[in-house]
Amino acid sequence: MNNFAAISIVVALTATLLSTVQAAGGVVTGPNVEAPDRYVYYPGTEVLAENEVRVIACGTGMPDQRRGQASACFLFEFGNGEKMIFDIGTGSMRNINSLMIPAEYLTKIFISHLHTDHWGDLDALWAGGWTSGRPAPLEVWGPSGQTPEMGTAYALDHFLKAFNWDYQTRAFKITPVPGQITVHEFDYKAVNEIVYDQNGIVVRSIPAIHTGDGPVSFIIEYAGMKLVFGGDSSPNKWFAEHAKGADFAIHEAFATPEFFVKDYGQPAQLAWRACCEFHTSGPAFGKIMSEINPGHAVAYHTMEEAHQELLLTIRSTYDGPLSIAMDMMVWNITKDSVTERMAVSPDRASAVPGPTRQPPPEPGRPDPMSDFIKQGEWGPAFNAQNKMLDEHAKKYNLQDQDWRKQKPWYKPNE
Ligand SMILES: [Zn+2]
Ligand SMILES: [Zn+2]
Repeated sequence: MNNFAAISIVVALTATLLSTVQAAGGVVTGPNVEAPDRYVYYPGTEVLAENEVRVIACGTGMPDQRRGQASACFLFEFGNGEKMIFDIGTGSMRNINSLMIPAEYLTKIFISHLHTDHWGDLDALWAGGWTSGRPAPLEVWGPSGQTPEMGTAYALDHFLKAFNWDYQTRAFKITPVPGQITVHEFDYKAVNEIVYDQNGIVVRSIPAIHTGDGPVSFIIEYAGMKLVFGGDSSPNKWFAEHAKGADFAIHEAFATPEFFVKDYGQPAQLAWRACCEFHTSGPAFGKIMSEINPGHAVAYHTMEEAHQELLLTIRSTYDGPLSIAMDMMVWNITKDSVTERMAVSPDRASAVPGPTRQPPPEPGRPDPMSDFIKQGEWGPAFNAQNKMLDEHAKKYNLQDQDWRKQKPWYKPNE
């Protein structure tokens, strides 16, 4: 080995060791020990204390979701085991699924308003969770509108109508109950009234001001803490009053009018209203946070390339604790502290089973497939699976449920 090669190896080893130490978030005392501390969050490796809440940003961007930034979604995990999803914007289910949480624990969804960037991935949770083992219906809380057709109940009723083919086929082949949605619509004008009160968690609603009547923000009370999830809103008096003194306050914050013109291609006349009339800009966000003085403030709904400028504009009016949220940012919150980290999770996480199994298919349910289509099944390819299926039947004692026996093409292996 020449000197140059030896030096290269030493440099490479040093770099590896340094990165190991840094990745661990503390001094690693030996070659085969656990890291003492971690500055990243690995899903599934951390038990919350009873009085702790973990919030994960599963979407922080704009309506035109990007591969690296989904639309609005925040998952709240409570120390008592409850999990709630606040908004489920387009693309956000990919981030939620990367957390490897069994589908049976993801049934409670709170929707701030009915723009797709705040509920556009409900279909992915509804059908994906059904396929991956959720045994129960979803429950959705959301606001009414000025008329019934502008409310959450109407939206969910028509959601199920739009996905009727999906519902009928899955209900027949899997089991129907997980495809149901229980809707809890509440008055969008309610000011700090309780919309949810179970297991020590209280959720209140306050009106928001955003493009039409209906949008709200949520105030969550747990273990003596007040956490606020603000949906889309321009600065409003209800947030200024009722989010006051929150331990943790999430509120939207938009990029500058110039950013929307230059980088986003918006017409100038739209750009300065989008950021600053029907949303909240950086300086306005900062002013709100200075007024409510939260334990920790979180800004979201801005593309990451605008974060530096957003930070500067927020800092012109607010100097308190602050995160500019990115997808997969994680906060652990107690009465005494807020810790910010990033989640490290696999791109290809697969469904994780929980303890509860789904019921079997419903007997007597009408089959959505006609004899015309069934008679098109091509036997040679079906029968080519027989060895694999015979082994499966034997392993799981399914011989008396052998669906092949009703098929005209079935030729058992001798
Ligand atoms: Zn909106
Ligand atoms: Zn939005």
